[in-house]
Amino acid sequence: MRTTTVVIGAGHAGLAMSRHLSDRSIDHVVLERNEVAASWRTERWDSLRLLTPSWLSRLPGYRYDGDDPDGFMTMPEVVDFITGYAKEIAAPVHAGTTVTSVRRRGDGYCVTTDQGEWECLTVVLASGAFNQPRVPAFAAEVPEPVTALTPMTYRNPDQLPEGGVLVVGASASGVQIAHELHRSGRPVTLSVGEHVRAPRVYRGRDIHWWMDAAGLLDERYDEVDDVTRVRRTSSMQLVGTPERATFDLNALMSEGVVVVGRLAGIRDGHAQISGSLRNKCELADLKLGRLLDAIDEWATARGVDDALPPPHRLAPTAVSERPILDVDLRDGRIQTLIWATGYRPDYSWLDVPVLDAKGMVRHDGGVVESPGLYLLGAPFLRRRRSTLICGAGDDAGDLATELVAHLDRRAARVG
Ligand SMILES: Cc1cc2nc3c(=O)[nH]c(=O)nc-3n(C[C@H](O)[C@H](O)[C@H](O)COP(=O)(O)OP(=O)(O)OC[C@H]3O[C@@H](n4cnc5c(N)ncnc54)[C@H](O)[C@@H]3O)c2cc1C
Repeated sequence: MRTTTVVIGAGHAGLAMSRHLSDRSIDHVVLERNEVAASWRTERWDSLRLLTPSWLSRLPGYRYDGDDPDGFMTMPEVVDFITGYAKEIAAPVHAGTTVTSVRRRGDGYCVTTDQGEWECLTVVLASGAFNQPRVPAFAAEVPEPVTALTPMTYRNPDQLPEGGVLVVGASASGVQIAHELHRSGRPVTLSVGEHVRAPRVYRGRDIHWWMDAAGLLDERYDEVDDVTRVRRTSSMQLVGTPERATFDLNALMSEGVVVVGRLAGIRDGHAQISGSLRNKCELADLKLGRLLDAIDEWATARGVDDALPPPHRLAPTAVSERPILDVDLRDGRIQTLIWATGYRPDYSWLDVPVLDAKGMVRHDGGVVESPGLYLLGAPFLRRRRSTLICGAGDDAGDLATELVAHLDRRAARVG
C-alpha cells in the first residue's frame, strides 16, 4: 500500500496532524494499534480528570462546547471529545493496526504493520510520549510481599491490599494517587523529589487561565535556556476537582499524608530516603514565586489589577525539622509501593537511527534528523503547551508546513 504520509497514533496529536494534512490536501493514513484515544481508555486510573479546564481543550477547528467549560473532564468525557474530533475531521484512521517497524526505503519510508506494509514519503510519530512507566533500576529491589504498581496499572483503592502505601514521586500523578489512597483510609507516605508547585486558583482565576492569557504556555523551545532540562521537568502538582482544590504538599500534609524526601535506593528491604527534601521544597517554592511574579507583572501591564483580587503568596512548604531517612518495607506497614516517577515513550519499533542514549528521538522542534520524519506530542516540542491537548494544534500546523516544504523540495529534485 502507498500513501504520501503515515501518521502513527490516533491520539489527539495524530488527529490534529491529520486535520492539517487534509487542509493541505496531503494524502495520508493514521495507523492506530488500538482505537482512537486509546491511552485515555486504557492507561489511566478510574477517578482521573483532566487537570486542564475544559475550555482549554481545543484542537484545530474544534473545541469543548459542553455546559461546564470551567470544569475538568472525566476520562469517558475526554474519550468522547477526542472521538468526536476524529469523526468531525473524518480522519483516515486504520484502527487495530500495530506498527512493528519503520525504516528508510529509497528517499521515503517503509512502515510495517501487523496488517501489511505501507510505502510513504513522510512519517509522523504521534505514538505518544507516555507509553510506559519510567521506574528506577532499583525497582527490582522492592521486597516481597509489597505490591508494586505504576499509574498505568493503578486503577482505584479497592485494587490494593489493606495497609500502608508508599507513593514515589510528587508530580500530578503522584499527588493525586496519594490523596485518593489517603482518603480511602490507608496510611500514605509520599516520597518527594524535584516537583513543580502550583495553586489551582490564583487571584480568582484558574492557574491555566493565567498561563494561557499571559502567554506562558506559548513560550517557545528555542527561547528557553536549557530545553533538554525543561523537557524533563515534571508536571505541575495539580488536580481537576469540582471543588478546585489545591493539591500541594502543605495540603496533603494537613490531611495526614506523610511526606519524605526522594527515594534514593532500596537496600535490604529498606527504602533509603535522601535528605534533600528541604532543598527540593525551597526550590519549588522559589519557582512558584517566580511564576506568580510573572503573572502579577502581566496583570499590571495589562491594567487588569483593579478588576481582580490583590496578589498574594502561598505559605512556604512546611518541612519537618527531623526528616525521615529510612522506610522499612519489610515490617508490614507498607503493603503497596506506587512508582509515580514519570513516563517514557516506546520506540522499540523505530528502525531509523534517530534515538539518543536515553531512547528519546533526537529532534529540533519536532523535525527529526532523518529527512521526512517528524515527531509530535513530546513535552515542550515547540512550546510549553506542546504536552497538553491545546498544544497539538499549533505544533501540528508548524510541522505540516515543514512536511510540505520537504515534499516540495523532493518534487523539485525529482523533477
Ligand atoms: C496521567 C496523565 C494525565 C494527563 N492529563 C492531561 C490534562 O489534564 N490535560 C492535557 O492537556 N494533557 C494531559 N496529559 C498529557 C497528554 O494530553 C496525554 O499524554 C495525551 O494522551 C498525549 O496525546 P498523544 O496524541 O500525543 O498520545 P497518545 O494519546 O498516547 O496517543 C498515541 C496513540 O498511538 C498509539 N500507538 C502507540 N504505539 C503504536 C504503534 N506501534 N502502532 C500503532 N499505534 C501506536 C497508541 O495506542 C495511542 O492511541 C496527561 C497525560 C497523562 C499521562
